[in-house]
Amino acid sequence: MPQRILEPGQIETAGQRSPARVRLPVRERVFARRADRLRERSVDHPLAGYLQLLAAVCDAQQRALSAFEAVPLPTERLARAREHAMPPILATDRPPDSRWHGIVREIAASLDATAGLPGAVGDLAARLHGAPADWLERQADALLAVRDDAIDVAAAPVVMAALQVHFVAAAAAFTADDVPALDVRTVCPLCGSAPVASIVVAQGPHAGYRFLHCSLCATEWHRVRVQCTRCGAGGKDIAYRTLARCDAIDDIAVADAEAVRAETCDACRSYRKILYQERDAAVEPVADDLASLALDLLLADEGYHRASGNPLLWQGAGG
Ligand SMILES: [Zn+2]
Ligand SMILES: [Zn+2]
Repeated sequence: MPQRILEPGQIETAGQRSPARVRLPVRERVFARRADRLRERSVDHPLAGYLQLLAAVCDAQQRALSAFEAVPLPTERLARAREHAMPPILATDRPPDSRWHGIVREIAASLDATAGLPGAVGDLAARLHGAPADWLERQADALLAVRDDAIDVAAAPVVMAALQVHFVAAAAAFTADDVPALDVRTVCPLCGSAPVASIVVAQGPHAGYRFLHCSLCATEWHRVRVQCTRCGAGGKDIAYRTLARCDAIDDIAVADAEAVRAETCDACRSYRKILYQERDAAVEPVADDLASLALDLLLADEGYHRASGNPLLWQGAGG
């Protein structure tokens, strides 16, 4: 956004518009919105069946979340997190109880009951339904610590989806003021996970501001625009690419700009997608990232690597 010089009378107004540091997930609709968006993007999409399958996973997540209550965080832990500027619910600690195992089985059952899915999905659902508790815990360890060599890539989207329900419930129980401000701006201030993508908000008090979206707990945190979300480089190192064209500027007024672009960084040769609500009010970071995999192929050809993965799509080690 262009810098403005403020007159004294404008300063107070600008102060009222300053962005919130964090935007917490709304538990009544966080996964339902994602499911709706996946279905919308699946229309005439070459990966339509895949996007619809993940929409069914998100529907099951929303149902599970509506019946899932977060265990309150001990107040001393919150105080310690604030004192040391640390995320209060570290993802790498794993959930403190095994209720999420039941959510794996619920999601598996709902996939099994969804008509028209390939036979392999039914086999996966049966395998997950009978998965032993210690295997689930080992998968959670590997997924939350992103240890690719130990991850069962076929089962990972469902295991991760169940873990997301636990962490979103925990995040939604916070107030924005309780979330510590971290020195490190590239990880979620609530759970320490990497962002999946960023979104430029179009409406309300945050219009024009960019937020990073947590891949695990769906918390969003403010990050200035035209700056690498991985290494912090800015200026000439940053460029924007869509499938249609390459732009050197972050300007939503560009007439043919698409709602989903990749923000590339030539300092670290990585990128994350950036979504523009002004172009499409329904954009959703996890869903639109999955629906724009063609853009990832284009960037891989150009020698850029993803700054971090998508929670519902896992590749094997070296994949
Ligand atoms: Zn998070
Ligand atoms: Zn960078």
